Amino acid sequence: MGYVRGLKCRECSREYPVNPIYVCEFCFGPLECVYDYKGISAVLSRKEIQRREKNLWRYKELLPIDGEPQVGLYSGYTPLVEAKNLAEELGVKRLYIKDDTVVHPTLSFKDRVVAVALTKAKEFGFDTVSCASTGNLAHSVSAHGAKAGFNRFIFIPASLELSKIVASLVYDPHLIAVDGNYDDVNRLCSEIANKYNWAFVNINIRPFYAEGSKTIGFEIVEQLGWHAPDNVVVPCASGSLLTKVWKSFKEFEEVGILKKLNTRVFAAQATGCGPIVTAVKHHTDVIRPVKPDTVAKSLAIGNPADGYYAVKVTQETGGGGEEATDQEIIDAMKLLARTEGIFAETAGGVTVAVTKKLIEQGAIGKDETTVVCVTGNGLKTKEALQGHTSEPYHISTNMSSFEEVLERIRG
Ligand SMILES: *Cc1c(COP(=O)(O)O)cnc(C)c1O
Repeated sequence: MGYVRGLKCRECSREYPVNPIYVCEFCFGPLECVYDYKGISAVLSRKEIQRREKNLWRYKELLPIDGEPQVGLYSGYTPLVEAKNLAEELGVKRLYIKDDTVVHPTLSFKDRVVAVALTKAKEFGFDTVSCASTGNLAHSVSAHGAKAGFNRFIFIPASLELSKIVASLVYDPHLIAVDGNYDDVNRLCSEIANKYNWAFVNINIRPFYAEGSKTIGFEIVEQLGWHAPDNVVVPCASGSLLTKVWKSFKEFEEVGILKKLNTRVFAAQATGCGPIVTAVKHHTDVIRPVKPDTVAKSLAIGNPADGYYAVKVTQETGGGGEEATDQEIIDAMKLLARTEGIFAETAGGVTVAVTKKLIEQGAIGKDETTVVCVTGNGLKTKEALQGHTSEPYHISTNMSSFEEVLERIRG
């Protein structure tokens, strides 16, 4: 058996047994997993974790499964890259990229949440998995669901990038492209989830799914030599990842693995879809839904389910938030590639652009340690860069043609 003791309403604290449910019957607040931290601290230590395989399941006591992991056995433990070139360019001493563009089978951090969600779906006995996705979740559920032998119904906004659509279809799921934005897709999926007995990873098993995001935070602490950073910058769609990064730090503190926690958490969103950051900047916890219009489609959630809690975390930790325009997002994707050799998707452009602004504003200090979460691979959103990169030099098949170009380059 695992260490999850049940589900608890984040609003009224009413408790429920472990089931595929996600809202409180009494106050409609969201449910969250609660653990036996005493029990966990008796078995989990730095040493024990370090003995284990380098994947996200090395923290399994702090994940909501009862048996052995069944999905995502090769996901996680992505590199924490000291970004010396980028740090120099931005004028700070210690900047790290948590690089979730690599290692994961479908090349985004969504493989973390799906590993937990599908393992849990197996434990619950579901035969069909489903999701409402802005793109990356579709890839991850399609791929891991195939390997684990589930029927897969995947719902996306029809306007997604072509690369994102192809990278789902290759796994042969039932891909349903909805004429509408993510918020429309999500609304439809909530209705479908009520009618069909499917495991919607981000709806009816969301309390379990969301816990998978904590592994990025556990890894950051471990890879910093069991220290938490001064600042962490997190991209937000629904806001779930941001709340779970903070939860992971607090849990490591709770079980005695982390000795000192003094981290400020910053939210990063696109200007064309920034309901969380807008609330942060206005010092309110009231989220005003927006109609998304941004190149960062993977973050384009206008009515973020965890927005309120994400705002709370930035306030509670003394962090903050910033937004980036489409042009700033594209410039930042190119900056990250040029300085660190990391090709991030648009969401990574958002986070890097926001980090740059926070440094310029002095919200992030020059001598502090900052971790920037880069959550998806750039090959997934090539379309965003079309017309925004330089062109190749075209030559014919002879030396003189090449040397003409070489002269131009050197000149
Ligand atoms: C889903 C996603 C996020 C964040 O999602 P939340 O809903 O806020 O947890 C961040 N980056 C990428 C690339 C994503 O696909």
